Amino acid sequence: MQARLKRFLPFNRDFDIKGCNLYAVHQRVAKQFRAGRAILAGDAAHVNSPIGGMGLNSGVHDAFNLADKLARILHNQADEQELDRYERQRRHIAVKHTQAQTIRNKTPAGRARPSRAPAQPRRTAPLGGKPELARKFLLRTSLIESLREAEQIP
Ligand SMILES: Cc1cc2nc3c(=O)[nH]c(=O)nc-3n(C[C@H](O)[C@H](O)[C@H](O)COP(=O)(O)OP(=O)(O)OC[C@H]3O[C@@H](n4cnc5c(N)ncnc54)[C@H](O)[C@@H]3O)c2cc1C
Repeated sequence: MQARLKRFLPFNRDFDIKGCNLYAVHQRVAKQFRAGRAILAGDAAHVNSPIGGMGLNSGVHDAFNLADKLARILHNQADEQELDRYERQRRHIAVKHTQAQTIRNKTPAGRARPSRAPAQPRRTAPLGGKPELARKFLLRTSLIESLREAEQIP
């Protein structure tokens, strides 16, 4: 751990390490997000590499989607089948957007010897001066695109 830290921050002394943990990166999505009255959301439903910062964000989107449906069921504006739509929408997004993007993000870091890996082209670099491409990139990485796609799922 000392050696690793010093590679990032080359100080001339040892770091005072209070504790450390191994974190295993998983890419997983539960087969079902709903079983009767039990509903999965956030990391319980899907986990992914933290690179790209999508885990918590997509979990918050689950919570918004679910809270909206629960409120409508509570106010007799919808029946419980709405909860199956939650699963259809959010599982689709977890697989097609969050997993797909985070697997792409993870690939260079996952190499056994990242320093020897061929340099990755910077995906954002060519977007300067190309407003349409930049807009598309931002819609995807901000998850706005995934929300719009989920709305189309009946
Ligand atoms: C290193 C790292 C960096 C990350 N960076 C980002 C980032 O930049 N952006 C981003 O969007 N996401 C990031 N994430 C992902 C994000 O932290 C998670 O997606 C998010 O915390 C999941 O929230 P959650 O509420 O679903 O689950 P959790 O945060 O895991 O919460 C579950 C809670 O349930 C409790 N619990 C478990 N079992 C029981 C039980 N039986 N009874 C009662 N309580 C229980 C746990 O103690 C815990 O407090 C990162 C994750 C890691 C590991």
